[in-house]
Amino acid sequence: MESSEQTQCVSNEHPAGGSGVNGHFDAMVKCAAAPGGSAPAAPQPPGAESGSPRPVMESWREERTRSAEDNETSLPSLAAAYTSILRGLGEDPQRQGLLKTPWRAATAMQFFTKGYQQKIIDVLNDAIFDEDHDEMVIVKDIDMFSMCEHHLVPIFGRVHIGYLPNKRVLGLSKLARIVEIYSRRLQVQERLTKQIAVAITEALQPTGVGVVIEATHMCMVMRGVQKMNSKTVTSTMLGVFREDPKTRDEFLALIRS
Ligand SMILES: [Zn+2]
Repeated sequence: MESSEQTQCVSNEHPAGGSGVNGHFDAMVKCAAAPGGSAPAAPQPPGAESGSPRPVMESWREERTRSAEDNETSLPSLAAAYTSILRGLGEDPQRQGLLKTPWRAATAMQFFTKGYQQKIIDVLNDAIFDEDHDEMVIVKDIDMFSMCEHHLVPIFGRVHIGYLPNKRVLGLSKLARIVEIYSRRLQVQERLTKQIAVAITEALQPTGVGVVIEATHMCMVMRGVQKMNSKTVTSTMLGVFREDPKTRDEFLALIRS
């Protein structure tokens, strides 16, 4: 089975020099060289499975979870780590303005990564409806805040989601919740894009799904060549969104309108 994922990269100037399959750099090179050929865990396109049991909720099983208790337990060591970061930067952690900084920073970091505390399946419970609707559903301009896993600095931007239902629809607000859960983790934009598309595919088994993310990476903006206005655009197209240019074009036109 060919990979069912398609990634487009509009801006690819990431200075990370990332390595590994999820590195910005590698991913960008791959999408330039072989579009759609790099999916490490390529989801099956809707309707493409042939008798073999569908890997039900495959992506959801991989979820790491963190509890509120875990947050409490790990807060002191996280704060201590921030204290040594301050020292390592040549600062004085005892300076008045910094006295509470390690605790604040640790708490903030737990918040920025609170997607580890949540499960997609909890969001979807009671939110999937049988509906004889076969027109494209689009939710665009979903705000997204994430953290680059290479530099631990923010990635922020907007997510556009479209899908073509196949007798099942998802409560509209749940699309934004899926974005929230996956984005509030350490991420690379390519993986985030794909995870959202795969979650929707597994939940609804729709005829097709398209996810486009436009984002600014602070690691690009604040360091290296400091490209203030560069944006990275990634997309994952599954099912008819991948196979049928007309459907894909309709989606892309609608999210741009
Ligand atoms: Zn980065």
